[in-house]
Amino acid sequence: MPKISGKLIIFSAPSGSGKTTLVRHLLTQEELGLEFSISATSRPPRGQEQHGKDYYFLSDEEFKQRVLAGDFLEWEEVYSGTKYGTLRSEVERIWQEGKTVIFDMDVVGGLNLKGLYGDKALAVFVMPPSLEELEKRLRGRQTDSEDKIRQRLAKARKELGRSDRFDHILVNNNLEVAKGEAHNLVKIFLGK
Ligand code: 5GP
Repeated sequence: MPKISGKLIIFSAPSGSGKTTLVRHLLTQEELGLEFSISATSRPPRGQEQHGKDYYFLSDEEFKQRVLAGDFLEWEEVYSGTKYGTLRSEVERIWQEGKTVIFDMDVVGGLNLKGLYGDKALAVFVMPPSLEELEKRLRGRQTDSEDKIRQRLAKARKELGRSDRFDHILVNNNLEVAKGEAHNLVKIFLGK
């Protein structure tokens, strides 16, 4: 069992559902006292992404070494050949600051964290309006190859089937409405 000295908010969804936008919005709401858990990944940076801000970008070798050292709370090969994981040190650092940790995490990772932390964690599934809309959004980003988009859509189909294991399902039809709902869920969970 990991040491628990604070609370966690987990936002999970298929890639392209808008969870990152919602998490970024929540991070701007100072009264919630949230801080983003920066994951480690073995994939290279995309677009404007920065090391230590969006992810800790590690080589495959470094990633494997840190797995062996027991540095991860959870990790997964989310796409074939690409690993992602949550560092224990991130969560501890944020709790030491007296803040709540917020995660932007794929569905399996989100459920693994919920399993580790139980009632200390609020797990929210962000539901896209439809698979068609999800495909449109993924293509609109223009950051991934056709092959990557297909991988992401195949994964999304599986992930939608796991949505009922989350504490809440938040449908992201309209971003402004979803932002308000996300804010309320977190506020109630933290008793603020
Ligand atoms: P992307 O490459 O689009 O940034 O992320 C790919 C997927 O990996 C997303 O669904 C993202 O939520 C997930 N992911 C990011 N960080 C972690 C992590 O620490 N652990 C796990 N299990 N998945 C993660």
